[in-house]
Amino acid sequence: MAQGGAAALSQDDTGTRELTMSIKRNAIITGSTSGIGLGVAEAMAKSGMNVMLNGFGDAAEIEATRARLAASYGVDVRYNGADMTKPEQIDALVADTRTAFGQVDVVVNNAGIQHVSPVEEFPIAKWDAIIAINLSSAFHTSRAAFAEMKARGWGRIINIASAHGLVASPFKSAYVAAKHGILGFTKTIALEGAQHGITCNSICPGYVLTPLVAAQIPDTAKARGISEEEVKRDVLLAAQPTKEFVTVEQLGALAVFLCSDDAAQINGAALPVDGGWTAQ
Ligand code: NAD
Repeated sequence: MAQGGAAALSQDDTGTRELTMSIKRNAIITGSTSGIGLGVAEAMAKSGMNVMLNGFGDAAEIEATRARLAASYGVDVRYNGADMTKPEQIDALVADTRTAFGQVDVVVNNAGIQHVSPVEEFPIAKWDAIIAINLSSAFHTSRAAFAEMKARGWGRIINIASAHGLVASPFKSAYVAAKHGILGFTKTIALEGAQHGITCNSICPGYVLTPLVAAQIPDTAKARGISEEEVKRDVLLAAQPTKEFVTVEQLGALAVFLCSDDAAQINGAALPVDGGWTAQ
């Protein structure tokens, strides 16, 4: 067994099987003030990890989330508002986490934005922002945390990609490019970490009803000339054979599993959690 990250399945009073970490791990989750990132942060805190939250939002709400996670799960939860378009702020986020917790064991690259537009009208600034936040930020966090993971012989890098890392949809050129790019980045980092106890994987969710998805419904309706209800039924869930949205809890559980030693041989993978979307 590698030097740590040992996870054990235990049964609580309600009979729920939970994955808990026997060694205290410290995780950064980018974009964890909302949606999937918050779901992953909550699952990681629940498993016993210390958590560094990141992302934008109302300061009082973020502090309430931070305090709730810390109190509910008895772990250290901090917040750093680094902007994922700013490499120097990303470096400071990793350094701040190291100072707070002693070391950085897990990095979850989750922060992401979307813009829906035909390519000929796609705003250049939106393209640049999507590539910076959804792709380049994962390079910057990994670059900053990799040496210490290597030195300790243990690390986990988890990239929240998308089904759009595997297949495309029209009007999402920047997003699809960034998500396909992150799968290539994942494979490269997986190879570089393979003999150092570090794994790097991508999780590829289908549609999750988070603020990011809710916000693109009006734009998609406009781009396709259909109603918002039709977007949900005929565009979003049309591709998802289960006809159900993926939940943040399901994604959090997979991310926690990837941090276990049972997952030590899962490396460089793109793991779809999409109700069968990309099986078609
Ligand atoms: P969301 O809008 O609910 O959350 C996005 C998070 O990223 C927020 O915390 C936000 O503050 C943060 N963020 C945005 N710009 C940032 C910046 N410049 N610096 C730091 N933080 C920033 O979105 P979500 O749906 O939870 O998406 C999270 C990730 O999951 C994204 O990478 C997205 O592409 C991916 N994803 C989402 C879905 C889905 O259906 N919701 C599906 C597949 C993949």
